[in-house]
Amino acid sequence: MPRSKLQRKVIAPPRFKGFKPYGCVNHDENPIELLYEEYEAIKLADYKLMNHQEAAVLMGVSRATFARIYEKARRKIARALVETREIITISGNSFSDQKWFLCNSCHSRFTIPRKIEKKCCPLCRSLKIETIFDRTSDMRFEI
Ligand SMILES: [Zn+2]
Repeated sequence: MPRSKLQRKVIAPPRFKGFKPYGCVNHDENPIELLYEEYEAIKLADYKLMNHQEAAVLMGVSRATFARIYEKARRKIARALVETREIITISGNSFSDQKWFLCNSCHSRFTIPRKIEKKCCPLCRSLKIETIFDRTSDMRFEI
């Protein structure tokens, strides 16, 4: 019987909804779904240059689980590059300490403290905001 997927912590969702290749013809077929936790693994290991143990602690998973997430992310990105496929990001099995919003007027991404009643963009004051990541509860950590 397969184990249920445990949630992986991300500090923030990616700053984009996806990537598209250009200069090729077949980039709009079968986009590759990169999970938020896979993006986070790439960010922590390859951008912030953390070792797997440090990154695993931040994401609330074992080092072995982090290594699996990281490997899946690298393979997906490699496949997207070689096969000239789009990448779209989806929340997957992740959660964050904060609820994240996107402003559809100025395209900024932000969080709103719970004490603020009126939800508007902190940069342009637009009310055209959407929730992009709302997984702050049901936190479970892998031991
Ligand atoms: Zn705005």
